[in-house]
Amino acid sequence: MRVVLDTTSGDYLISVAPYMIVSFATPAVILIGTLRHRPPHLAGWILLVVAQVVYAAADAVTVADEFLSGEYLEPTPADLLYFAYYLLIAAAVLLFIRRRSPGWDLPSMIDALVVAVSAGLIVWVFLLQPLTGDSELPLGAKLTQTAYPVLDLMLLILAVRLAMGTGTRGPVLYLLLGSLVTMLSVDTVYLVQGIIDGAAVSEAYLDVVWMISLALLGLAALHPGVQHFDQRSNTAVPDASPIRLGVLTVAVLMAPGVQVVVWMLDWPLDIPLISGTCAVMFLLVMARMAGLVAAQRRAAVTDSLTGLHTRRHFTEALDLECRRAARTGHDVGLLMIDVDHFKRVNDSYGHPAGDRVLVEVARRLATATRAGAVVARYGGEEFILLAPQTGPADLRALAERLRTEIAGLPVDLGGNLISVTVSIGAAADPAPDPESLLRAADQALYAAKAAGRNRSVLATPITPQAA
Ligand code: GH3
Ligand code: MG
Ligand code: MG
Repeated sequence: MRVVLDTTSGDYLISVAPYMIVSFATPAVILIGTLRHRPPHLAGWILLVVAQVVYAAADAVTVADEFLSGEYLEPTPADLLYFAYYLLIAAAVLLFIRRRSPGWDLPSMIDALVVAVSAGLIVWVFLLQPLTGDSELPLGAKLTQTAYPVLDLMLLILAVRLAMGTGTRGPVLYLLLGSLVTMLSVDTVYLVQGIIDGAAVSEAYLDVVWMISLALLGLAALHPGVQHFDQRSNTAVPDASPIRLGVLTVAVLMAPGVQVVVWMLDWPLDIPLISGTCAVMFLLVMARMAGLVAAQRRAAVTDSLTGLHTRRHFTEALDLECRRAARTGHDVGLLMIDVDHFKRVNDSYGHPAGDRVLVEVARRLATATRAGAVVARYGGEEFILLAPQTGPADLRALAERLRTEIAGLPVDLGGNLISVTVSIGAAADPAPDPESLLRAADQALYAAKAAGRNRSVLATPITPQAA
């Protein structure tokens, strides 16, 4: 991160000039890209501009420090500016992550934590521990030097989270990640060299890599893809791709791996540290598993096209409600809803348009029913609704409300407004058995179709009412 200076050559200002030019140009380039492509949410990009201004200022202060005095006490003003830079970059990346994912995208968060914990272990064992063990350094210097790997780790967590989370993939994401990874790698090399040599690093080639990182960031901002970069994705569960599983496997094996390396190097074994890390890993993996199980369960009871419940879930709910009604004597109401002449929609506008109609009908059904009702997709273009504790009169009113809700407003198929109607068969009965209730609603639906469609019919009582 810090400017690498070759003070042995007299005119090092000239030697750092290319680096400084790139450093100062980067915020301007990001600003130009942002103004040119006008992404819908500016905050993340503006934060990047501010971060790079702070970064350039830090570089300038470092050069000035080195040029004027040649030595300094840590933390220097440049260090403080670099710390501010890290926090600004982290805020920008966090904003992008938040914008790109629906909700908090917990699975990706856990995956990122797994990778971060394993990276943190390596940083701790191979960087921080040797550093903090070096008692000759003054406290300020120790803290300053410790802060860099910690801040790098924080950025690594966010970079992994950005890479693993949902959202559009494309040049902007890859350039941004490339910039972060390049910067984190060269930071790590710089830190490791500093620890090994115990002195300032003078290899100018590190400057070149930092310049590449800045160039990648600039290119990301200049790419027209910034317009869609932070578009919200609507898939909440990330795919468990082979690459993701591979990364996670390496990450969870890191703690035992580090243990073996430390043992082979004949370093003192830190049993609580490794055991603790393993325990955290196991807990994270278990949390991820619990999430997957819950997602599977949700998928089994949710219709993938409409988001309504599945027939399977509905059948379970109906059984349960009938048993409850048998105890309490309440009515159980059932509506069977079938889209009228749906084949014509498919034939005239195509199957995908038919799907969109189904989604819209489902949405209207779901919003027009009260909490407690179970709405499900029963078959292709057939829906079903369970209304607990609802007698014939209320059920009939509900059926009419749903029918007019759908018939009242045409469905917009990308410019084509088409009128959609449904026929509804209703059946309400105290203490029914599920099969006869379903049969009664089905017969009522058939009657509604036969009577001309776009209407609801209430089945006649199916169990003899007590006089
Ligand atoms: P009716 O008024 O008598 O109900 O006429 P209809 O044309 O709706 O007749 P029917 O209920 O028999 O038609 C069902 C059609 O729904 C047949 C099938 O191609 C279509 N369909 C079933 N599932 C889907 C689906 O998931 N997507 C789309 N687009 N069409 C589907
Ligand atoms: Mg139909
Ligand atoms: Mg049908």
